Amino acid sequence: MKKQGVLIIAVEAESLAAEAGMQAGDRLLEINGEPVLDQLSYQFLISQRDETTLTFQAPDDRITTSVVANGENGIGLDLAEDEVKVCRQNCVFCFVLQMPKGFRKSLYLKDEDIRLSFLYGHFSTLSSSDDAELDRVIRERLSPIHVSVHATDPEVRVKVVGNKNEGHILRKLDRLLEGGVDMHTQVVMAPGLNDDWVWEKTVRELWERRAFQTEGPWAGKGGVLSLSCVPVGLTAHREGLPAVAEVSSDYAHAWVQRWAPEVRKYSAANHGEPWLLLADEWFTRAGLDVPGRSFYSQSWAQLENGVGLVRRFLEHSRRFLGRPKAQGFRGRKALLLTGASFAPVLNDTLAKLNRKVGSRLRAAAVRNFSFGESVTVAGLLCGKDLKYAAEADRQAHGGDPQWVDAVVVPSSALRTHTGPTDQYTLAGVVHPEARAMFLDDVTLAELSQDLGVPVVPGGENFSQLLGNLLIAERGLSAFHTAGMSSPQGAYLP
Ligand code: SF4
Repeated sequence: MKKQGVLIIAVEAESLAAEAGMQAGDRLLEINGEPVLDQLSYQFLISQRDETTLTFQAPDDRITTSVVANGENGIGLDLAEDEVKVCRQNCVFCFVLQMPKGFRKSLYLKDEDIRLSFLYGHFSTLSSSDDAELDRVIRERLSPIHVSVHATDPEVRVKVVGNKNEGHILRKLDRLLEGGVDMHTQVVMAPGLNDDWVWEKTVRELWERRAFQTEGPWAGKGGVLSLSCVPVGLTAHREGLPAVAEVSSDYAHAWVQRWAPEVRKYSAANHGEPWLLLADEWFTRAGLDVPGRSFYSQSWAQLENGVGLVRRFLEHSRRFLGRPKAQGFRGRKALLLTGASFAPVLNDTLAKLNRKVGSRLRAAAVRNFSFGESVTVAGLLCGKDLKYAAEADRQAHGGDPQWVDAVVVPSSALRTHTGPTDQYTLAGVVHPEARAMFLDDVTLAELSQDLGVPVVPGGENFSQLLGNLLIAERGLSAFHTAGMSSPQGAYLP
């Protein structure tokens, strides 16, 4: 039988918890009479009152109740990591099912947890959330969350998520919205499956539920803050999986022609704040420039879902080029490796930087042999693909062992934690001893050793890149972790 409460793994000396008599090995059962389900519910319950009643159970089953004065900033407890829930869907485009064989075990775990959705912006189809869990989300005000809708039409949704019980996503959404929960939503678009009338219905039904309405049935309730549309990503490893059509360059082009104007219309109807969002990949696949700043939400909503990453990079770069700090790149010679979809944008920007400060930075598009060459995002590049691309570049430049001062790899291709979900813990802790490694377990240090030059993560912008180059110059390897271990890393440039 599953034990009640959450295991206490450490108690801070002289803390409120220690005064209450708690010890490592006890289980925290209740706070103010409410059951403690996990770390999130602990954080919610501990912050509710000035006086907190704690109920905990010793390993010999003795139960103690104790009152502590104020738990607002925690009471000095370390709780065990929560178990991650496994998803009950079989989405036709599930990335886990399209993984090549031979990667570490944790990458094959289909985790889907509404708590991760709240904490890290991880999208959930809500398949592992029953009514009790939805009510808990409402009670603990876990808002906003991120929901993969894919289609509001029940029959199509069943086809997309491969679970006959999960067609009625609007029923779950409405329960949350009625309870005051806001949400960002997404649709992964597969041509011929959930585009056309299905997509139009999805847009219409989610727009009806948009946030901040002052009249009508949804006024004063939770609301849909945004809806993004992301083109389906297919790897070369789909043996035994249902056929799914790719988003070709022509399809992406037609999609942008049709829906970019709609983005602006919905924005105008939403007081100027973009509500309908198109992922950057629509533009990069179509070979089009990304739109200007006003196309994206003021707060860069859904940035980690690949909406606006390129525009934000361009905006940051433009500002950076005007600053004295840009001179820090003067005379530097580096090769920046990235995915094929981002390489042209990066090369253009590097050319401007080189002209301005006299640096010699180049970008090279890395072919993804591990997942298949149709995968062009940087976040899924593996160590061996990066090594191959760097070696090819060295040969193309005369074979000099020191052909560049440093090789720069995408931060989004690196993971710093290999716990049960492979990327993050519910406490948000990046383990200090964790080594930054690529999906195929090659570490930064190994790649650097193989190439014979420093290899540094690019960070999220030029400022962070410069910082990382300076760190490498000093012979250190504690790089900025920005951009690493990101929940939706697959879509980062
Ligand atoms: S919900 Fe996510 S993990 Fe589960 S099958 Fe769908 S894509 Fe895969």
